[in-house]
Amino acid sequence: MKTIIRVTLLLGSLSFLAPRAQGQYFGRNPVQYENFHFKILKTQHFDVYFYDKEAPAAAEAARMAERWYARISTVLRHQLSGRQPLILYSDHPDFEQTNVLGEQPGEGTGGVTESLKRRIILPMGASLAETDHVIGHELTHAFQYDITGVGRGSVAGGLNRVPLWFIEGMAEYMSLGPVDPNTTMWMRDAVRRGELPRFRDLESYKYFPYRWGQSFWAYLGGTYGDDIVGALLRAAGRTGNVQASLETMTHRPVDSLIADWHRALTEAAQPVAVATGVTLGLLLGRGTVLHRHVPRQRGERTHDPQARVRDAGSTPREHAVHQLHRCLERRRQPLRLRRRGDRQAGAAHRQRR
Ligand SMILES: [Zn+2]
Repeated sequence: MKTIIRVTLLLGSLSFLAPRAQGQYFGRNPVQYENFHFKILKTQHFDVYFYDKEAPAAAEAARMAERWYARISTVLRHQLSGRQPLILYSDHPDFEQTNVLGEQPGEGTGGVTESLKRRIILPMGASLAETDHVIGHELTHAFQYDITGVGRGSVAGGLNRVPLWFIEGMAEYMSLGPVDPNTTMWMRDAVRRGELPRFRDLESYKYFPYRWGQSFWAYLGGTYGDDIVGALLRAAGRTGNVQASLETMTHRPVDSLIADWHRALTEAAQPVAVATGVTLGLLLGRGTVLHRHVPRQRGERTHDPQARVRDAGSTPREHAVHQLHRCLERRRQPLRLRRRGDRQAGAAHRQRR
């Protein structure tokens, strides 16, 4: 039987994931050079496994876990079947000796949830905030498994086929919420470069699923309400087809949703771009991205006849583009080149002009 292991990476590399065979091979068990004498702290919903030297932190973690349970069960409208195991290690070297997984977690792994027994295993983070985030993230995976039946061997097919951005982005959205400075920075940078993903691009290795997934889920939750999170999980968990589930639920083609999301990202990036005088990649029409920058000399005007024709239109996206043009024109200050990528983009633009 295969077990899915969801891993939270806090260091941002992109190795990992996907279903892994649980087979063990001689000589590949993790080295255990310490004996852990686990005790169990029972809370309303959790069996928290801990050992003596982490006892005070485990009590804190148990409180956090119950808080997350209340939030996630409310948003997803679901109560977990049975008690939820939460296995705590006091630090990362201890965590790397775990024998729960059948393999050694990597140094960048912040926590793991396995589907067979729905066990969450994690080391205490460097701060309470970090531990809190990882518990929220991993507990979301536990709900994903329980709601879709993964690990119980019945209807596991759907969730195994949905992309990473769907699974990990949801866990990030549930544990970090819609406003996160780190994700915002990623999105703003992508808007500036004009490199926003189409729907199918979200599955590409070029788009880190945690950040892009969180952003798209935040757009969906902000637009349709957070009930869409559980509803979409149930639908896509049955069929494995996120696009079909999304279109059925929102009554909109997915390209239209993506275009609106891009517009929202662009609008969010606009004030910072104006304040700092950086270039933005403007969205013109469906899926068309045009790099523009602030006019280089006083009195020089940007001129894009097609954009001006479009300005006469009245769709929200075109209105946003028009507003952005006006905003940039008002700045009338030299383009600031800060990094190599900026200089290349600037050179490419000058050639086009
Ligand atoms: Zn995860």
